[in-house]
Amino acid sequence: MTELHAGNLFWPGTLKNTNQYEPLRQNRKTKVAVIGGGMSGAVCSYVFVRSGLSAIMLDRGRIAGGTTLASTGLVQCSNDIMLTDLIMQIGERDAVVLYKACRDSVNKLASIASGLSHDVELRKRSSLLYASSEQELSKLRHEYETLQAFGFDVEFWSSDDIAARFPFRKPGAIVAHGDAEINPYKFVNTAANDAFRQGLEIYEHTDVTKHETLPNGIHLLQTAEGYVIEAEHVVYAVGYEQDELRGKLIKTNMNRTFVMVTGVQPDLQSWHERFLIWETARPYTYMRTTGDKRVIIGGLDEALGLPVHDERALRARSNTLMLRLQKMFPGLSAPIEYEWSAPFGESRDNLPFIGEDPAWRNVYYCLCYGGNGTVYSMLAAQLLRDRICGETHPLAGIIGLGRRTLVGAE
Ligand SMILES: Cc1cc2nc3c(=O)[nH]c(=O)nc-3n(C[C@H](O)[C@H](O)[C@H](O)COP(=O)(O)OP(=O)(O)OC[C@H]3O[C@@H](n4cnc5c(N)ncnc54)[C@H](O)[C@@H]3O)c2cc1C
Repeated sequence: MTELHAGNLFWPGTLKNTNQYEPLRQNRKTKVAVIGGGMSGAVCSYVFVRSGLSAIMLDRGRIAGGTTLASTGLVQCSNDIMLTDLIMQIGERDAVVLYKACRDSVNKLASIASGLSHDVELRKRSSLLYASSEQELSKLRHEYETLQAFGFDVEFWSSDDIAARFPFRKPGAIVAHGDAEINPYKFVNTAANDAFRQGLEIYEHTDVTKHETLPNGIHLLQTAEGYVIEAEHVVYAVGYEQDELRGKLIKTNMNRTFVMVTGVQPDLQSWHERFLIWETARPYTYMRTTGDKRVIIGGLDEALGLPVHDERALRARSNTLMLRLQKMFPGLSAPIEYEWSAPFGESRDNLPFIGEDPAWRNVYYCLCYGGNGTVYSMLAAQLLRDRICGETHPLAGIIGLGRRTLVGAE
């Protein structure tokens, strides 16, 4: 079992009374069983139930207790891989289809959030993607021209444009409109609870340890306690545990990453329109603000899949993040209040793993690797809902498990 975070996390304190769900204590039947109650499982389950499909969602721990709890909640159309690079990798048509689907998914998430029973702090924000060095400027400008040519709502800001709005200067930046920030913990708990009230069965502390398929195609999921769920379709939304039940299914790079959250800032005037800010360097540093005027900053990825427990080692990373923040925003003085580290999975072709198992009928994966996991969860929910209902989604060949860029990956 992968340890999914370590440190003092910010989000649990933002939602005190979460619903608790009983473990599974009887055998059940359903149309769709969703294994995993993080962002991926919850968004899928929510969409399934709203589409009239009967569904059960199971988690071995608590809802939103996995990587989702470590997320920083940036919801962006742009991916870790730039559109220009994605075009080189998978061709113009598919790359643009995926980018447009990401843009639509940001809007879809906003629409779901606005219909939930509680405010989940989804706020529309623009993003500033700045060139980390002069050398990256021409690439960034090319990216801007490509995004603009395909109809994305972007601007290019010169160094002076940036300095006129922020207390820092960078060589240039793409400003993308229509992105968002979210409280991932509130979103997942609320979406799950609302779906529960509309018929979703949820079981926490329910570990799926065995999966068999009968000759008639019915799937049997067995829990650690020995109970069985019969399902026509199974969705693996297990986050970074993809290998556990399926063997070495896919190839991923596991790193660890770091997040620091400041105390409430007395004054955020210098932060132009509370933009989401990130950069072209890899690994990138990224930052956002919160509704209660804190700053969340993350990055410093390291090539190790285990989170850091040692308090002094964690504080050393937080201090580095704080220095980066204060270099850009010298007026922000609130101290470090929360800090954590967490494993972070990336696929070798920078795309998520969403779709049916090529060798196992009606078994699907919703593995939203990469920095855009929240948006990918939304894509997945729609794609898998369509697939379960017998329709083909335009993204199936682009992010599915049989895609060209995965075949032959080491
Ligand atoms: C530090 C950090 C910052 C991030 N920031 C962002 C961001 O700003 N924006 C963004 O879009 N993404 C971000 N991400 C990525 C994002 O957090 C993930 O894409 C997302 O949380 C993945 O959700 P998930 O549901 O797939 O996984 P998880 O949240 O890990 O949920 C999987 C669940 O499956 C359960 N499970 C696993 N196996 C079993 C089993 N056999 N039986 C029962 N249950 C099982 C686990 O208990 C777990 O709760 C960030 C990630 C990290 C680490």
